[in-house]
Amino acid sequence: TDALMAGRRGLVMGVANDHSIAWGIARTLAAHGAELAFTYQGEAFGRRVRPLAQSLGADLVLPCDVEQIETVDAVFETLRQRWSTIDFVVHAVAFSDKSELKGRYADTSRSNFVRTMVISCFSFTEITRRAAELMPDGGSLLTLTYAGSTRVMPNYNVMGVAKAGLEASVRYLAADYGPQGIRVNAISAGPVRTLAGSGINDARRMYNFHKAHAPLRRATTIDDVGGAALYLLSPLSAGVTGEVHFVDSGFHVISMPNPERLAA
Ligand code: NAD
Repeated sequence: TDALMAGRRGLVMGVANDHSIAWGIARTLAAHGAELAFTYQGEAFGRRVRPLAQSLGADLVLPCDVEQIETVDAVFETLRQRWSTIDFVVHAVAFSDKSELKGRYADTSRSNFVRTMVISCFSFTEITRRAAELMPDGGSLLTLTYAGSTRVMPNYNVMGVAKAGLEASVRYLAADYGPQGIRVNAISAGPVRTLAGSGINDARRMYNFHKAHAPLRRATTIDDVGGAALYLLSPLSAGVTGEVHFVDSGFHVISMPNPERLAA
């Protein structure tokens, strides 16, 4: 154990269970001395998140549904009262109706498009704005994205469009808040078996294809993402902002599948 994050406090949004990417990030940050607060969406998740938070010594565990902006306001008001300032925020929140994470993107409905965008894209902007008020001496914000933003992945559909918007917002927010010493970055993770991941039709095939053809020939783990998050949320990355950093076993660099595994 080192003290890379000692004396640093931050909020982790998006733990649903111990498979969540946000959980991999949280336990890595805690192992390096960070003090954490957590949010959960609804009481069913609350029952799972509270013991996880407690296992890392965190007692600030707050309800938050980003569709209801007053619950986001309440979280930051509590943080202001309890900690007065924060050093970082992890945004690992996304949602789209399962029925539109299959078939053609072209068939996306207006109502699900708007809902997907609000939850999976605009919430990061709304959260960054509130977090920045608690970061008088600078800070670091991190969101999670996926390569379906820039290349077509079957079934990813409207979520790919939302992730494209999210990645663009990372760059605009980095420019807006850079003068205040606040950095804004994203990690583009390879497929991980999580609750959200399982909402995508044929997710298993995506996962297996990735494992067979990525340069490292293995799946992305939540600890892989945790290590990169530690870097992006700590002073090790002091000169880095507006970046989309791939943690995907190198999958994004290949242009032809592994010839030995073409059948996979
Ligand atoms: P997960 O299901 O464990 O986490 C998703 C979280 O989003 C849950 O905690 C859920 O409660 C939260 N959420 C959804 N709607 C919300 C709302 N209205 N208000 C507040 N919270 C809400 O799945 P995950 O895969 O760990 O997802 C975390 C992030 O990682 C997402 O942004 C996802 O798109 C991204 N990501 C996932 C993968 C993957 O393969 N699993 C790959 C790349 C990026």
